[in-house]
Amino acid sequence: KTTQRLDKILAHSGYGTRSEIKLLVKRHAVTVNGKAIKDSGLQVNPDTDQIEVEGEKVHFQAQTYLMLNKPQGVISATEDSRERTVLDLLEPPFAHMALFPVGRLDKDTEGLLLLTDDGKLAHNLLSPKKHVAKTYYAEVTGLVDESDQAVFAQGVELDDGYVTMPAKLVILVAGDPSLLKNSKIELTIMEGKFHQVKRMFIAVGKKVTFLKRISMGSLKLDEYLAPGEYRELTEDELQQLR
Ligand code: URA
Repeated sequence: KTTQRLDKILAHSGYGTRSEIKLLVKRHAVTVNGKAIKDSGLQVNPDTDQIEVEGEKVHFQAQTYLMLNKPQGVISATEDSRERTVLDLLEPPFAHMALFPVGRLDKDTEGLLLLTDDGKLAHNLLSPKKHVAKTYYAEVTGLVDESDQAVFAQGVELDDGYVTMPAKLVILVAGDPSLLKNSKIELTIMEGKFHQVKRMFIAVGKKVTFLKRISMGSLKLDEYLAPGEYRELTEDELQQLR
């Protein structure tokens, strides 16, 4: 595809929302090949058309890939009438881009969430057939032990009868129920059913009290990102993910 809507290209390159771009166009601030344009939906070819905003050449942005350390208390949707979403955490120029989260984390779950406008990559990462591994760090009530590892390695039946694929459970710290000391674990799953990690532990009589995603496929959460912080993927990270 060689031509695209001008407002889409400009929104993507950080010039504001579509309605803000409409206003720019109205003010004759946008030119294509030297002529002020009237229609923000004009089809243009970013490779061959010379596009300027307020006399400055537009630098086109390719697709955008952000690694977010999702904090608790925000939902992984693109918009919601009452709740704060992960997109509300973004600042310009990313705030105006049509990014979306790749997959979901619960409101009270932290950690790795990829935000992008690359639908193809998102589809590949989320496709149930691809079995992309997702690793979570969790704190769990009571003593998580070898019997839980064995059950999870076999596949565990959830409350709706679904049997999960084999999952790898690593015990970092064994809890002690008599001391109210929680277990600390890492769990790697190859699918992404609704509330899957929490429901897997419920199936073995335990409760997840803290949940954080630390990797998805080849992508690992950057430990320097505090909850709520984000950065663009490096070239290497992006290449490995593809
Ligand atoms: N499993 C859950 O239970 N919650 C999440 O947010 C992610 C995986």
